[in-house]
This record gives sequence, C-alpha cells and structure tokens, in this order.
Amino acid sequence: MKILVTGGYGLVGKSLQKVVKACDFDGNFYFLSRVDCDLRNSEQTTNWFKEYNPDVVVHLASRVGGVYDNMNGNYEYLVDNARININVVDSCKVVGVKMLINILSTCIFPDQNVSYPLTSNQLHNGLPHHSNIGYAYSKRILHLASHLLTKIDVDKWCTRVVNLTPTNLYGDYDNYNLKSSHVIPGLIHKTSIAKMTSGELHVYGTGKAMRQFLYVDDLSNVILQFIDLYKDKALNEMEISCIVSPPESSEISIKSLIEKICNIFNFTGKIHYDTSYSDGQYKKTASSDELSKYLPNLTYTSISTGLENTIKFFNDNKEHLRL
Ligand code: GDP
Repeated sequence: MKILVTGGYGLVGKSLQKVVKACDFDGNFYFLSRVDCDLRNSEQTTNWFKEYNPDVVVHLASRVGGVYDNMNGNYEYLVDNARININVVDSCKVVGVKMLINILSTCIFPDQNVSYPLTSNQLHNGLPHHSNIGYAYSKRILHLASHLLTKIDVDKWCTRVVNLTPTNLYGDYDNYNLKSSHVIPGLIHKTSIAKMTSGELHVYGTGKAMRQFLYVDDLSNVILQFIDLYKDKALNEMEISCIVSPPESSEISIKSLIEKICNIFNFTGKIHYDTSYSDGQYKKTASSDELSKYLPNLTYTSISTGLENTIKFFNDNKEHLRL
C-alpha cells in the first residue's frame, strides 16, 4: 500500500516518520516536502500525485502559526491554505485515492453559540474567532471539499475521508520562532533565553485562556491506527470526523502551563504578563468521546511527560530547529 504524506517534514510529519519507524509499520510511505512539490500550484500537485499514484493520502501540509502570526497574516493563511487544500483534494479525485486523512484543528470551530465540549457536527455553525479566520475558513473548505469528494463515484471507485481534529498540538519538531510560534514552543524558547540571561520571562496576554494540549506522537499513533482499520476493512462509513483530544479534565490555563514549563527549566525569575496582547480564543474545550468509538483503548501522553520530552529535545537540538 502506497501512502503519501503531504507536509512530511513539519511537526506532525517528522513525528509520523519517527512513529512509523518505531513500530515498523507495514506500508510504503513517501514523506513529501516543499522541495518536491509546491502544493499551492495545481499543475505541480496533480502531476506529482499522478507520478506517485498513492492509495492513501495523509494530508498534513499547511501554513501554520500561533495566534499572533495568524492575526498578522489572515489573508495569506486563507489563500495559501485554500490553494493547498483544494489542490490536494482535487488531485485525490484525479488519481482515485482510496483514503484521504485530513488534519483539521479545534481553532476552526465557531467561537460563539457553540455548545461545549465541541463535537465535529458543530464545525460550520457560526463564525470562527477573528484572530484566525483565514486559517479557519481554509480548513473548513478542506472539510467541505472532502465531504463532496465522498459523494463522487468515478468508475465504481470512491474516496473514503477521515477528518481528524486535534486540540493544541506540540512536540519535538515544532516552530520555535519567537514571533510566529504557538505558545508551547514560544515559551520553551523564551524560558531558555530568560534562564541563560537571568532575565524576565515575557508572556503574552493574561494567562487566563484555557487549552487542551495534545502531544504530537499521540496524533501520529491515531493516524496509523486509522490506516490499520482501513487495511483491516474495519471502517464502514465513507466519511468519519473525530476530534482528537485528551480528556476534558486535561484542560489547563496558560498560566498553569507557564508554571509547568518554568518548573522543568528550574526558572525562578520574574514572569511578566503583557496584557496589551490578545488572549485569542478564551477556550475551545473538546471531548475525546468521538474517537473512543473507533479507538477505545487509546491512551494519551500527560502534559508533564510531553513537556519534559519536548524541552529535552529542544535543549539537545537547538541548532537544528526552526528558531
Ligand atoms: P491558539 O490556541 O490558536 O490561540 O494558539 P497559541 O498557541 O498561539 O496561543 C495560545 C495562548 O497562549 C493564547 O492565549 C496566547 O495569548 C497565549 N500566549 C502567551 N504567551 C505566548 C507566546 O509567547 N506565544 C504565543 N503564540 N502565545 C502565547
């Protein structure tokens, strides 16, 4: 079975490479990089898909960034990602891919008039938060285009779609750039500098926002388990949508996250909360119930273990990471 992974060298792609190797997963993987193909270009994308002719596509490629990078670049987040997503879905149609696994995000859900915990069927019920509206709509387009793809029956073949929607992801090969990163890699980088220089730690916002953090290797495991279910012919529906989230009880405030990071670094200096920065969405609490239906025995890495692993990796590999 040929499995094409778009975005094969990003946060999730690198983790998937590691997990595939660790469990000796049976499959012929190709991890696509931006050097192989610019997925924003439809001709290049279709040609690449025709040449490789995958059975399964794991679509990870995306322009991704933290709340402040999204606020500064909503237009680019919409246009680049909408192009990538349409080109990937349409190329799946052209070559007759059997299963497409998409990665969405809980940040693309409506911000108001939604009932918590979030469930996949609420995705299109209202406007996303203004801070990442471009990214959110590009992913909603991916969701819609994939849904419509499952309705097309070309020469007795149909594409099965699995939409996996993780909560806030973090792990080894994250983007640690101080301007464009998400909170965990950004704060790991900042705390390491504050510790080295005996300076203050600058945190953005009030620290009151609530998040559920998912360790990236847990998402990679879920992706591989869905490929296994497909191989075993154990998936009945043509379209499956699941939030991938540790239990609701794992939700913590940004303030409590910062305390955990500081403890691991043994940083005891001053912490300054710069409230001139937005907190972004207050919360996006999600339930792990949807996924339990398919993978009842799944376990999640605790935030303490995940942070310890990630901080160790950061300290050991600083010079090779996106800083
Ligand atoms: P979000 O979940 O999409 O909002 O993504 P982020 O990971 O970028 O931000 C999560 C929360 O962390 C927000 O409430 C931010 O205000 C807060 N935060 C605190 N310090 C930082 C920082 O240095 N970088 C980022 N990206 N967020 C920070």
